[in-house]
Amino acid sequence: RCGYVAIVGRPNVGKSTLLNHVLGQKLAITSRKPQTTRHNMLGIKTEGTVQAVYVDTPGLHKNGETALNRYMNRTASSALKDVDVVVFVVDRTRWTDEDQLVLERVQYVEGPVIVAVNKTDRVEDKGELLPHFEWLAQQLPRAEIVPISAQHGQNLDVFEKLVASHL
Ligand code: GDP
Ligand code: MG
Repeated sequence: RCGYVAIVGRPNVGKSTLLNHVLGQKLAITSRKPQTTRHNMLGIKTEGTVQAVYVDTPGLHKNGETALNRYMNRTASSALKDVDVVVFVVDRTRWTDEDQLVLERVQYVEGPVIVAVNKTDRVEDKGELLPHFEWLAQQLPRAEIVPISAQHGQNLDVFEKLVASHL
């Protein structure tokens, strides 16, 4: 089995940290010009017979109102249709306007969506996360929501199994 996994989320939520952990290496394939390609390959994880190709998707990181950004945001949801699963990374400590913009794109995705709620280390009482999870579930009723700590490698086995289940 082989498939494409789009990683989306505003800057600073921990996307690079997550991928470094999952791939077990520093990200080698990145582009300085995300607008020039439909997908940027970030890395490939092979485990047994499952191969996951992690990709970045243009448009989702941009805000502002230039014509190019508007065009990219319109095409972003169709770019997201070309992948097998979309991973929306959010930071449990902070929700910003940029998260909101990404959310609005992800709401148009017809395929499987996984919301990875990152930075859940240092949360002693996991019950504190529930209101945020419930709110996310309302926004993305079809999504699977998984708490992770990219930095500490917590729950990444569960995360990777969820990803693999869609490939
Ligand atoms: P990106 O912009 O989405 O790629 O985010 P980065 O991977 O560069 O991470 C942004 C910041 O968040 C860095 O300072 C990371 O060390 C920090 N960070 C990432 N994952 C975690 C986590 O699980 N827990 C904590 N406490 N910090 C994290
Ligand atoms: Mg990054």
